[in-house]
Amino acid sequence: MINAQTKLFGLLGNPVGHSLSPFMQNIFLEQCGVNGVYLAFAVAPDKVGDALRGMFALGVQGANVTIPYKEAVIPYLCGMSKAAQACNAVNTLIYTEKGYYGDNTDGAGLLAALAREHDWRPEGRKILVVGAGGAARGVSVAMALQGAAEICIANRSAEHAAALAEQIESLGNVKATAVPLEQLQKEALYTQYHTIVNTTSLGMSPHVERMIPLRAELLDAEHLVVDLVYNPLETRLLRTAKEHGAKTASGLGMLLYQGALAFEAWTGKAVDPEPVRQRMIAQLSGAAQ
Ligand code: NAP
Repeated sequence: MINAQTKLFGLLGNPVGHSLSPFMQNIFLEQCGVNGVYLAFAVAPDKVGDALRGMFALGVQGANVTIPYKEAVIPYLCGMSKAAQACNAVNTLIYTEKGYYGDNTDGAGLLAALAREHDWRPEGRKILVVGAGGAARGVSVAMALQGAAEICIANRSAEHAAALAEQIESLGNVKATAVPLEQLQKEALYTQYHTIVNTTSLGMSPHVERMIPLRAELLDAEHLVVDLVYNPLETRLLRTAKEHGAKTASGLGMLLYQGALAFEAWTGKAVDPEPVRQRMIAQLSGAAQ
């Protein structure tokens, strides 16, 4: 029931029509008994500052930020978390009296999902991250900040991989290396790294036949293969990895848990995203038809 006390939350991006965040966040609001509503706003590139000033003036309690504005919102914030600073990207705006505080829950969301789904934690691990874009940055920074021993970045563009590896190593206490994507053909990589995280968009609908150049025959039950893509839920990469005995995790877990962490920051209420998982799967299946 919307009334005079209803709080507003939202999503800023462009486009936003495909986003599952309004569906998910409105269920969280209902589940936690918060009198609020979450809406999606497609903002023009030259209106990002106006959007944040207007939201603040109206007392919008919190928002998510998606492509292409994760960096563009930064000049309008009153402060940023360590994760957001290290990624130079913000996916969550939290209302404070001084203005919006920026956080980045993408990486922490993936780690929360992997802990829940596979009891997997980054401490002391050697991890292969495929891709060097915004999602790779979020995920690698979170893994480095939570104690990963080594992160290897494999990417199509060597300069992007090298820049990300350098940035990760600057966080301290973690070894970071960069290799070309073709290195995924090397057998040694599969003995060295037992966690492989695809952060590229390869395999995302409608190009579902695509996948990173994985040597699936070198996988076994020791390997965990993670795909940040969640549409389709089971990508060709995950299907292939599963067929060869590896453990797998889809991007849906990351989506659910980054949203739950943002929700908690806005409302102070911890939400369990697991009851929402099946509804998200049904929503995604509907979207795919
Ligand atoms: P991005 O910044 O544009 O980065 C894309 C990455 O993919 C780059 O490393 C790029 O390599 C690589 N790439 C793109 N096309 C390729 C191709 N044909 N062959 C080889 N490499 C290719 O995008 P992003 O924001 O990181 O997002 C990446 C994916 O993560 C998307 O599918 C997105 O939906 C997903 N994601 C999921 C969640 C979640 O909650 N599950 C959250 C965030 C993102 P170059 O450096 O060579 O260009």
